[in-house]
Amino acid sequence: MRILVLGGDGYLGWPTALHLSDCGHDVAVADNYARRGYDHEMGVQSLVPIEPMQVRVNAWREVSGKTIKSYCGDLVDGEFTVEMIRDFRPDTIVHFAEQRAAPYSMIDRKHAVYTQHNNVVGNLNVLFAIQEVDPEIHLVKLGTMGEYGTPNIDIEEGWLEVTHNGRTDRMLYPKKPGSFYHLSKVHDSHNIEFACRIWGLRATDLNQGVVYGQETPQTVQDPRLATRFDYDAIFGTVLNRFVIQAVLGHPLTVYGSGGQTRGMLDIRDTVECIRLASENPADRGEFRVFNQMTESYSVGEIAKIIANTFDGSVEIEYLDNPRVEQAEHYYNVKHTGLVELGLQPHLLSNTLIESLFGVAEQYKHRVDLAAMRPTVNWRSAASPLRSE
Ligand code: NAD
Repeated sequence: MRILVLGGDGYLGWPTALHLSDCGHDVAVADNYARRGYDHEMGVQSLVPIEPMQVRVNAWREVSGKTIKSYCGDLVDGEFTVEMIRDFRPDTIVHFAEQRAAPYSMIDRKHAVYTQHNNVVGNLNVLFAIQEVDPEIHLVKLGTMGEYGTPNIDIEEGWLEVTHNGRTDRMLYPKKPGSFYHLSKVHDSHNIEFACRIWGLRATDLNQGVVYGQETPQTVQDPRLATRFDYDAIFGTVLNRFVIQAVLGHPLTVYGSGGQTRGMLDIRDTVECIRLASENPADRGEFRVFNQMTESYSVGEIAKIIANTFDGSVEIEYLDNPRVEQAEHYYNVKHTGLVELGLQPHLLSNTLIESLFGVAEQYKHRVDLAAMRPTVNWRSAASPLRSE
């Protein structure tokens, strides 16, 4: 298949491009390098050094003999987006290319507006480009489990059968997201469902859980192929941040009581889920939704797993929660779609965590301790952290 990976320079986009290329697909990546720009803006960097795109693709050619074409441009630019898709003529577009940090979107008005403009307009441009160039193209779009929030009923895979006043219909599952970023994903889902229903496009929305891990079988083949590893309070995901705190001998910082429960998955499962969704496309006119997660843990449970696995003493510190979220809640998610397509999950095992301790140990001299303290407060429209 010809597969275009949008956001191919990111934490997940790059290892996904390598995995798809390794599996024999003809892969191209596109990115505007905005993510590297947020690092400059926030004064942070990936724990593991990452190479520029040209070095990455050259290294992959050397290691595997395979070529990955790269496009540099912004999806918010509709002309660029349509011309790129016309040029590469993909069978599948995997769309990772959005601003993806909830705290970043909650800094102030400017960051909230940027996030929704970047994400919603970029996604709309992709939909229009598919409709114009070739409506057969399958869109595989990264959503998030955070779109659903934490409702007090079971979370289904995207759709819910509702009976109201004696009549029944299949409706999009109601969403209760927790940040302007998560809201942007809800808006995307509605726009994609509309494009499938009205134009007959085919799309898979992958409502992904929180990803952990840094290495895949492809990225470990050469240090130039490494993907990012973020640990700061804005972009770092919780398990990755706890690993670094443990290695540095710092307390693991749990927000609130730690009862918040989230769906999670290993980075090796992310890349495999994308392959499975791409190789088994949705039908024309179908808006297919999979919940892309393998296990659920509360933040407190994750902290305890890290503390128990680490060879040394680890303290857990409970901070006032800067976010507005339920501390204790019901959480029961259906996630059978990808398993039915053949996913064999890597569950959170000591082996994975120990390999992450190794990565953190190797690069701990690069850690900026101040970057791990939360600075963005959900309750205030303008957090103390300002970029202007
Ligand atoms: P990332 O920020 O590392 O990667 C996103 C990439 O998209 C970056 O390289 C960025 O430069 C690029 N990009 C952003 N806006 C763009 C634009 N307008 N035009 C072109 N390129 C643009 O994020 P990630 O962690 O790899 O996440 C990828 C996707 O998966 C995101 O859509 C995110 O919402 C979703 N997701 C991630 C996680 C997670 O735990 N990392 C969990 C759930 C969902």
